[in-house]
Amino acid sequence: MQYRNLVGCEARLVGYTDRAIVTIRESSDPRRKRFSLAHELGHWNYHRGRSFECRVDDWIEGYNSKPIEEKEADKYASELLMPAYMFEPLAKKVKRPTFDGVKELADIFNTSLTATAIRLVNMNVWPLVLISHSKNGRVWFNRSKDIPERWFPQKDLSQDSMAFDMIFGNEQRIRHQKISADAWFDNREAEQYDIIEDALRISNNQILCLLWLENDEMLRDIEYSRF
Ligand SMILES: [Zn+2]
Repeated sequence: MQYRNLVGCEARLVGYTDRAIVTIRESSDPRRKRFSLAHELGHWNYHRGRSFECRVDDWIEGYNSKPIEEKEADKYASELLMPAYMFEPLAKKVKRPTFDGVKELADIFNTSLTATAIRLVNMNVWPLVLISHSKNGRVWFNRSKDIPERWFPQKDLSQDSMAFDMIFGNEQRIRHQKISADAWFDNREAEQYDIIEDALRISNNQILCLLWLENDEMLRDIEYSRF
């Protein structure tokens, strides 16, 4: 492994027969570097001998549109750095699944807030929706398995959401708060429920929003009657 001043990507892997060199961008923060290295190990494990172009850029930018190899390498990295048998019991113990809880876990596992939040959502320990927003609207979102399909976040931020104040203002961090679900969802049940919203700025034009659907009623399977 080596550190270099990579331009335009976080890390790369060059392999030949049974040997490979991972190059990591020198200026990245340490948690990012760890993730990049684990990501490249994922490629080595799954895609050795195959030709592909790895760009460990931002899973923030294009999480949903990434090529399958990139998603596999991200998943490998996530499972390597935050193993389920360690992560799950600690994730259950956080007082609330907000960014304070995510930060606690990130400090334990030495991982970034974004990677940790994605792991928390995928682990399905709490009913969560994680959404990345830019000023131009939603970039990607990710839901815990227990969240029914009908809770599909709106493409554009509602002015009632605290995320709206954050992306169009300068705040770095606002405390989580209870908010009507219709600030985030336009389905017809939404106005009956409150959810817990938390938001965190991760760059000039990007925020992460974490919604906790704490009311079990929202998780019920509803059979809409058919006519
Ligand atoms: Zn890659």
